Amino acid sequence: MLDKRNFYINGKWTAPLKSNDFEVINPSNEEPCAIISLGSAADIDSAVKAAKEAFPSWSQISKEEKISLIEKLYEIYKSRWDEMAESISMEMGAPIDWAATEQTSSGATHIKDFIKRLKDFEFESEFNNESDNYIAYEPIGVCGLITPWNWPINQITLKVIPALAAGCTMILKPSEIAPLSGMLFAEMLHETGFPPGVFNLVNGDGAGVGTQISGHSDVDMVSFTGSTRAGRLITKNSADTIKRVCLELGGKGGNIVFADSHPEAVREGIRNVMRNSGQSCDAPTRMLVEKSIYERAVKEAAEEANNIKVDVSQKKGDHIGPVVSKTQFDKIQGLIQSGIDEGATLVSGGPHRPDGFDKGYFVRPTIFTDVSNNMRIAKEEIFGPVLSIIPFDTEEEAISITNDTSYGLGNYVQTQDKEKARRVARKFRSGGVYINGKNADAGTPFGGYRQSGNGREGGTWGIEEYLEVKTISGWK
Ligand code: NAD
Repeated sequence: MLDKRNFYINGKWTAPLKSNDFEVINPSNEEPCAIISLGSAADIDSAVKAAKEAFPSWSQISKEEKISLIEKLYEIYKSRWDEMAESISMEMGAPIDWAATEQTSSGATHIKDFIKRLKDFEFESEFNNESDNYIAYEPIGVCGLITPWNWPINQITLKVIPALAAGCTMILKPSEIAPLSGMLFAEMLHETGFPPGVFNLVNGDGAGVGTQISGHSDVDMVSFTGSTRAGRLITKNSADTIKRVCLELGGKGGNIVFADSHPEAVREGIRNVMRNSGQSCDAPTRMLVEKSIYERAVKEAAEEANNIKVDVSQKKGDHIGPVVSKTQFDKIQGLIQSGIDEGATLVSGGPHRPDGFDKGYFVRPTIFTDVSNNMRIAKEEIFGPVLSIIPFDTEEEAISITNDTSYGLGNYVQTQDKEKARRVARKFRSGGVYINGKNADAGTPFGGYRQSGNGREGGTWGIEEYLEVKTISGWK
């Protein structure tokens, strides 16, 4: 078992001030794979002090120096690719091949893209030709970065790299359920040679370290990715210190499949939900199908879900792994049962583990049809391999059902009529829209409307989140 009890504070791996062991569980076998420490208020004070002391010099270093350090980090990241994939696979259950090709590569993509954006970023500019005013973008200060377990290194790189690029110093608290990838990333930052105190990592849970970060008077900003529930608590706890709070929260994406969509649209929609065992914030978990193709769509959806293999994360090949924890497993089982109790039709999967598994948090790829949008399975974020199919008659009805949610992260539309796709895209109340399954490019902003959050990560928008804007008049 790995001993990962230390924190990374002020450039050194440091023992917690008070020991408080916590086991990291491998979700494929329910066995502990590492021990970490849950930090205390004193550990957070020490990390915040280090970050505060590092800020005056780090905030002033040149863009060229920052670029050269982040480029070095990128090379180190690539050289430790397999270790990163193994950490993610073990801590949160992503199948090893997929952890390498999707999870680990997402971190590399972000680092590479932020280097490009930083090169192009103008931190200072004249207001306009006629004016003597001047505009300066300056780092906001000490940042608390709180991340989830589902795309661990994706989320960490989306925060740490733009914070560094902006000139901020920081304390990262990765998810206590999946902290190993974040700790490996801290090793890479150390190897790169960032000055002590610029980046710090303290492990802990939400009630402890998470709350201490959001309430800390010397933390100038919190960037949080996780549940809407925790986002509310963080917002309230940050209020007294008026810090900036950037939130990337849950989702309940709709996927409108029109009768004129590509023949693969339904199957693609199923695969898109099931990847990462359904644990993606922008997964299209409500599939809205035009009534004229409903029967065909239901048949294809069930076939596709039944074809998806479920297996342990260390096994190579094409399958989905377990969900991350017992808490998630129990929550998903409860929601599957609620779908049955509320009268939806189960066409594949269902409650209990798949055949052949008596251990591990494995969930059967599950499809419900004849779902109405007021059932719990259509309203709540399930965060498991579970999809609801809802029939519709008209374009207006489909848009209205899609927008009838408290969330607004990613919505999808499938049609070969480009004008219709654009019309629908404009009417979706969400931060992202995916037409015919097209992925968003690196460097585009990612974030939510409504209770999916208020921030935008990625690209130039991601760097701007960590900056204050100053107006200086009389500059010339
Ligand atoms: P979570 O909210 O339980 O935990 C996320 C992080 O917040 C963890 O580090 C946790 O320890 C910490 N935390 C929990 N309560 C806290 C509190 N009161 N104060 C401070 N920190 C607290 O979420 P999770 O289960 O780890 O992740 C899944 C959720 O994340 C889903 O809702 C998913 O949609 C969301 N998510 C959103 C995005 C996005 O970009 N919008 C991306 C990935 C995941």
